[in-house]
Amino acid sequence: MIDLHTHTLFSDGELIPAELSRRAAARGYRALAMTDHADLSNLDLILPRLVRVAADLGRAWGLTVLPGIELTHIPPGEIAATAAEARRLGARIVVCHGETIVEPVAPGTNRAALEADIDILSHPGLITAADAELAAARGICLEITTRKGHSLTNGHVARTALAAGAKLVINNDAHAPGDLVSLEMARRVGLGAGLTEAQVDQCLKNSEELVAKATG
Ligand SMILES: [Zn+2]
Ligand SMILES: [Zn+2]
Repeated sequence: MIDLHTHTLFSDGELIPAELSRRAAARGYRALAMTDHADLSNLDLILPRLVRVAADLGRAWGLTVLPGIELTHIPPGEIAATAAEARRLGARIVVCHGETIVEPVAPGTNRAALEADIDILSHPGLITAADAELAAARGICLEITTRKGHSLTNGHVARTALAAGAKLVINNDAHAPGDLVSLEMARRVGLGAGLTEAQVDQCLKNSEELVAKATG
């Protein structure tokens, strides 16, 4: 299993990077990105700290640990510049917190994120066909999530992404130990979103590709 969207104590997760990555390794995960919530006020608090430990933890526990960030509730006009700053500070996976229906994310966030240098648009809610087409054109992955609340629109995200030819990944958005689901459970969530077995396999391949790109 690969989870490219997780949170540590540097935002609202429960665990420090060492324990989160240790628990993921113990569950058999082969890669993890730590992607704490950030805006321009805290990018420089989070990223150097994740960059400092990620490779060492990965070596120690036997999995790939990537420093990343989840750009969260950024005014849409500032997303591109914030994503660029995150890259400059060493983010290997840049996630943007999309227009989930369970939070008042600013309208236009999905579009602005897809025009920026990001890897994954997380929980994009009732994403439009045009935005899914932009994701496809730019090679940005859309997210199916195992997380409660955000997962309410998984079916819509899956259908819209497939119609547009956009890539999908399955993430946990893990905040606590119990959120690191088994590969079997992640597969079931994908199937529950309406994906076929082959389409779930493709999601896992897309995650592998992102890891390869981030470590290459
Ligand atoms: Zn989020
Ligand atoms: Zn998140």
